[in-house]
Amino acid sequence: MKVIEKLEAIKNKELSSSDNLENYLSVIEKKNKDINAFLELGEEKAKGKAEEIDKKIANGDEVGSLAGLVFAIKANINVEDFIISAASKTLENYYGSYNATVIENIIKEDGIIVGITNMDEFAAGSSTESSYYGPTDNPAAPGRIPGGSSGGSAAAIASGMCDIALGSDTGGSIRNPSSHCGVFGFKPTYGAVSRQGLLDLSMSLDQIGPLSGDASGIAIGLNSLISNDPKDSTSLKWDSPNFLDPINKTPEELIAGKKIAIVREFNEVTDSKINGIIDNSLDKITDLGGEILELNFDYIDLCLPTYYLINYVEFFSATRKYDGRKYGSKIEDVCGEEVLRRIEMGSYISQQEFSGKYYKRALQARSLIRTEINKLLDGVDLIAGPTVPKLPHKIGENLEPMEMYAYDVLTVIANLAGIPAASMKAGDVNGIPVGLQLQAKPQDDLKILEAMIALE
Ligand code: GLN
Repeated sequence: MKVIEKLEAIKNKELSSSDNLENYLSVIEKKNKDINAFLELGEEKAKGKAEEIDKKIANGDEVGSLAGLVFAIKANINVEDFIISAASKTLENYYGSYNATVIENIIKEDGIIVGITNMDEFAAGSSTESSYYGPTDNPAAPGRIPGGSSGGSAAAIASGMCDIALGSDTGGSIRNPSSHCGVFGFKPTYGAVSRQGLLDLSMSLDQIGPLSGDASGIAIGLNSLISNDPKDSTSLKWDSPNFLDPINKTPEELIAGKKIAIVREFNEVTDSKINGIIDNSLDKITDLGGEILELNFDYIDLCLPTYYLINYVEFFSATRKYDGRKYGSKIEDVCGEEVLRRIEMGSYISQQEFSGKYYKRALQARSLIRTEINKLLDGVDLIAGPTVPKLPHKIGENLEPMEMYAYDVLTVIANLAGIPAASMKAGDVNGIPVGLQLQAKPQDDLKILEAMIALE
């Protein structure tokens, strides 16, 4: 059942929200031991909330737009009374003492929070293998990484453990695991969703967004997550559209006449089997009356160095508060290899004498990338292409840092440019899911959703 249908069923008393929750809890009970999608559950609180919603519905009282839907939350988003560890030993005993703005939005609309999901330590990774709590398995391709860093959230969706999961995306961490696990994931325009209460990896790139099993779940998630927040200085004042508007339109209505760009350099860096699957989606677009144009992006080689330089510097600065005095342990004493690498590199690059050499140049490259990608988007509605250039590796395979970073080459562009981007399942290579990435101009998030609904 699609998320929108479930919402209707709950409101019409065909399904109680308690039963919806119980169904998920029994799947979690059965599968989480092996998959390790959830780090912590809040069963009692969730059951209480579900009963409260069922009572409201029985009494004919008004309920919120998420009534009875079950949410999973990535471990770097503050939720009161849960351990918000960012999957690091640094914060293993840190209890969220307040709700992030996105959590307030979910609770206000009667969503039910069932638990906290696994991730790469401090969201610095693409495989969920760097979690202090061990890796998460890929439910769609067992034995392989689920992608990352929001691997727990994607695996929770792929294994049927919740309706909607929240992830954060700094360089692809919503889209990459969505691609590897064969689910839908959406990184909104920068500033559309409040970052207040998110433990930042790289604040000028981070954005929270939804993952779900179908496009209606994404639409419902976006409707409640997008809001202006005075507590986040980068929050957009945006009179955002209703993302459910396209849900009853036909695929032809949603695609015909649309101009969709493909980018030659994106395909050149991608595994040919993956390109083959993406071609099927492009054929579908053409069949529905969309026009495909081939464009060029000359700066693909600049993207990863630019992204990682900025990430290191901003992450270094963000981690200075983990000095072991106020809460948690001193980060350098207990963190994993990748987090330490970023802190050390960030500290080095941040030194006054090197700033002109590295950081300032990274910022210049960033503005060049932003300008160029916006130029490409100027004449078209969307850019379509692969989300991740290669298939997920087997858990535990030893990758060099640069090999791990290479997973991100197609996703970091959207974060550097602040544009919306999403991934949906396009097909599979021998059973391993492959994601189609759709990108649009800032605040054209709805265009992406329209295409997702049409292609679903
Ligand atoms: N893999 C990228 C990184 O390690 C992206 C992470 C993310 O989006 N949180 O920085």
